[in-house]
Amino acid sequence: MPSAPVYIATPFYYAAPMAQLIDGKATAAAVRVAVKTEIAEFQRTHGYAPGLATVLVGDDAASATYVRGKRKACAEVGVASFPHELPAQTTQADLLALVCKLNAQSEVHGILVQLPLPKHIDSDSIIETVDPAKDVDGLHPLSQARLVQGREGMRPCTPLGVMRLLDDTGVDLKGARAVVAGRSNLVGKPIAFMLLERHATVTMCHSRTRDLAAEVANADVLIAAIGRAQMIRGAWIKPGSVVIDVGINRQSDGKLVGDVEFAAACERAAFITPVPGGVGPMTIAMLMQNTLTAARRQLTVRS
Ligand code: NDP
Repeated sequence: MPSAPVYIATPFYYAAPMAQLIDGKATAAAVRVAVKTEIAEFQRTHGYAPGLATVLVGDDAASATYVRGKRKACAEVGVASFPHELPAQTTQADLLALVCKLNAQSEVHGILVQLPLPKHIDSDSIIETVDPAKDVDGLHPLSQARLVQGREGMRPCTPLGVMRLLDDTGVDLKGARAVVAGRSNLVGKPIAFMLLERHATVTMCHSRTRDLAAEVANADVLIAAIGRAQMIRGAWIKPGSVVIDVGINRQSDGKLVGDVEFAAACERAAFITPVPGGVGPMTIAMLMQNTLTAARRQLTVRS
């Protein structure tokens, strides 16, 4: 009787390509070193340092942490820091008066009013009162109008950080299909216009977008700025794309995660930012750069 054929199972290894991590911590550190060098040069030439006023109203713990980080960065790179801390019950009139005073101080080149402000304060009118030349947050309507028109002006810090990370990957943005998920004035909209400035073909998605998965599947470059933990599934990601995750979401176990399902996305994207350690560290680094830029522009205006 012929013996039964013997099947030898050969293991089949499928090595999924893994995305290259975009190291925001390292890039932010490099930006800070470069800014520090340029500030030292600025100070040698002009006899003073660029100055940043930070205004914190109330006792929101997260805001206090962010502002502390910004002040620490000032000390590290050589920006003169002008801290202002006001109680939660500060009136709109008192805050407006402080902003006007800072607008008039020549040693203050940048003004950062930490958001969110207490509910009884109209944030829009505070932001609009900041001198656009000192608008290092890039949130003044004039700064945003300049961005929309493709003219020089202060750009918001997180979007600037995103653009820097994209540039570091070497991706050619010209003609690339870019999808921006999220359309806030702080993040989504400015990023979309900055990508447009760089000749990407931009699609903006938001809570009423009919088929987010289909839009994401088309993206050579995906910017996720929604604020919903891992909402963008890894399986939606276009193979070989660049994924920048701006989202910061704290889970019930205390861990921070982004808007993108990170592990699964790593198997499809060519480049991806981790959360934490991606976009997060870039924001403060770009604030330092904006303060230097503001000081230089005010020099040009004065001379
Ligand atoms: P906002 O809440 O202001 O905006 C969220 C946007 O996401 C809105 O445009 C909203 O659409 C959209 N959105 C909500 N749900 C969906 C959905 N189901 N599908 C598609 N779009 C949706 O948030 P921010 O822009 O201020 O911040 C976004 C994220 O980025 C947050 O996690 C925040 O913590 C983080 N962040 C990180 C920073 C950093 O330094 N890394 C700095 C700033 C923010 P709609 O307009 O229709 O409501």
